Order: sequence, then structure tokens, then C-alpha cells
Amino acid sequence: MATPILQVRDLRTQFAMPDGIIKAVDGVSFDLYPGESLGIVGESGSGKSVTALSLLRLVPHPGRIVSGEVLFRNQDLLQMTDQEIREIRGRDIAMIFQDPQSSLNPVLRTGFQVDEAMRAHGKSKADAHARTIELLTKVRIPAAESRVKDYPHQLSGGMRQRAMIAMGLANAPAILLADEPTTALDVTVQAQILELLADLNRELGTAIVMITHNMGVVAGLCSRVMVMYAGQIVEEGPVEQIFESPQHPYTWSLLKSIPRVDALRHERLRSIQGMAPDLADPPAGCRFHPRCPFRIEECFTKEPKLLDVAPNQRAACWVTMDRARREMGADTLIDIHPGAGSGVRPGEEI
Ligand code: ADP
Ligand code: MG
Repeated sequence: MATPILQVRDLRTQFAMPDGIIKAVDGVSFDLYPGESLGIVGESGSGKSVTALSLLRLVPHPGRIVSGEVLFRNQDLLQMTDQEIREIRGRDIAMIFQDPQSSLNPVLRTGFQVDEAMRAHGKSKADAHARTIELLTKVRIPAAESRVKDYPHQLSGGMRQRAMIAMGLANAPAILLADEPTTALDVTVQAQILELLADLNRELGTAIVMITHNMGVVAGLCSRVMVMYAGQIVEEGPVEQIFESPQHPYTWSLLKSIPRVDALRHERLRSIQGMAPDLADPPAGCRFHPRCPFRIEECFTKEPKLLDVAPNQRAACWVTMDRARREMGADTLIDIHPGAGSGVRPGEEI
């Protein structure tokens, strides 16, 4: 089995606000393998962006990473000096956002900005320029030689998004963190960008972490998916398997809320019933229990752990565990990261 390129362990990021401490990321652990495309999905406010920002130590004030490890090629990014993490950013791990405005400077020519992304990491001016044209062509910006001279506002929304992807790929990073990069685009352009990311993932072997609130995007691009709810991972597994057989009621509700063509014509887009929890004071027990149609007694008071529920698939749900325990026996429930905070061992009382 391949060695993970990124290992995140028990990551916790909090915002100290006047009316309480918001636990935006609350004990997140996962592995990312070289060249894979991993989706992180969840409703707005579930901690997806803060997770990605934490990986690169870009959490805005008053946010703070309070604990955890982010091992990139076995080096903890959270322990590096500012200088060391700056060298990793953009060179080894790049990030693209929903809004190109946040990455592209409106007063600088687009090509110059892509050049700069490479010059910051030591490329010569001539080399950088040649590669910029190559990159813009690769992200399918037509007539790249003349487009490099355009200012961002002269490009369409889709083109700006492509230019930002080109900038993200400039130094051939091992990992691209893509935070809702297609959310603001119309459906056709969105499909083109997703196809582009899939091609780049295949051709260049860049591992992609695709953050989205849209299960359709996950289905189109990712091979594995992690579902986040209230700052935690509640389910994780291969995309086909999760779509076929979700084991957490929240995943099930997300899948049910994917709009279908026929449904769109007849009813408004369905959303999941109930409100997302207050991250300063999350519900006791399972955080999803107030909205869960299947809840049982344990769900109200005891926090479920993320445990194996099928080959390669894990979920944190008492209902699923209860059923699995009855069907397979307690020995099959295995802690994914022993010692990483979730502490349950096979056969142990949980
Ligand atoms: P998502 O990307 O899943 O929509 P985020 O990761 O952006 O969610 O946010 C998770 C939670 O963290 C939010 O619900 C919010 O309470 C908190 N949060 C995020 N950014 C800030 C900030 N700049 N200041 C205060 N709280 C924040
Ligand atoms: Mg977000």
C-alpha cells in the first residue's frame, strides 16, 4: 500500500469569539495518498474551509490551530518556521478558492501573476514566462500568448478561474487544495473546470483535495470522499461505495438532497431538515442527533467514534454500529487511528 503524502492527526482549530469559543475543526484525522482525488463534503459552516486553511496555516485571525499534526512527507507543517511553511505553500501544496479575486490582483496583468508564482520559488524570468504560456494553454485558455497581457477583469469568470488554477499548478505541486473552485460558475463552465482538474490529476499526478457542498461534484471528480459535520468527519470511504451504501444518516440526507432533473421541475431544491449546530455549543452525544431520523438512546449522550463499517469505509454513528455489532460482532469494529484520540479497541466496551 502506498505511503500517504499527507497525514492529518487530531486537528483542532478554534475561533475565540465574544460569545464563546467556536470549535470550527474538532479532531479531524485523515490520510491523503499521492495522486488521489479526495472530496471533502458537507453543508456550509461544517469546517471544510477552515480545515484546508489549517493545513497551510492560513487560518485568519482570531482563528487558532490549538492542536494536531499535519505531516507532509513526514514533516509536521504545524511545527515549521514561518519561512519553511512559506516555501511549502505554492510550491508543494497550492490552494485555489471559490473567488479568483482573492488570489488574482486586479491591477496586475494575469500572465505576470502566474510568472510571479514561479519566480517566488526561484525560476528565472524567461523560464517562468515560457511556462506561464504553457500552463495557460494547458488550462485551455485560448490564445494564451496574448491573453497573458490581459488584466483579470478582461477575462470571463471561467477564464479567471482557469488562470487561478494555472497559478496553483505553476510549481507542479504535489497537492492542490481546491476550495469550492466552481461554486460561483454556471453549470457548463463548472463541468469544464471539473474535467480540467480531473485531466490534470491524471496527467500530472497532482493529488487533489476538492472541497464542496455538492455531492454531484464529488461524483464527477473524486475517488474517495470524507463527509464533515459540525467540525468533524462523520463518514469516509470510496465514492462509489458511499453513494451506493452510505452508513451515516447525514451522508444519506446529503445524497437525498442531490437535485434530480425531474425533481427540479416539480419541487424546490430539497435541503436537510433542521439547523446546523452552533459550533460554540454543539449538541451532546452525536452532533447530528437533533436532526437524525434514526436516532437511538446512545445518540443523545455518547459521542460516536469513526470506526470501520465496511471495507475501506468508516462512519461515526451509533445506529450503524448497533446494527454492525448485531450482524458481525463487536470484533469487527476497529479504531482507525489508535492513539490519535479516538481510543476504542476491538472488543472494548464502547
Ligand atoms: P465551510 O467551509 O464548511 O462552509 P468554514 O470552514 O468556513 O465552513 O467555517 C466553519 C465555522 O468556522 C463557521 O461556521 C464559523 O462559525 C467559523 N469561522 C470560519 N471563519 C471564521 C472567522 N473568520 N471568524 C470567526 N469564525 C469563523
Ligand atoms: Mg467554505
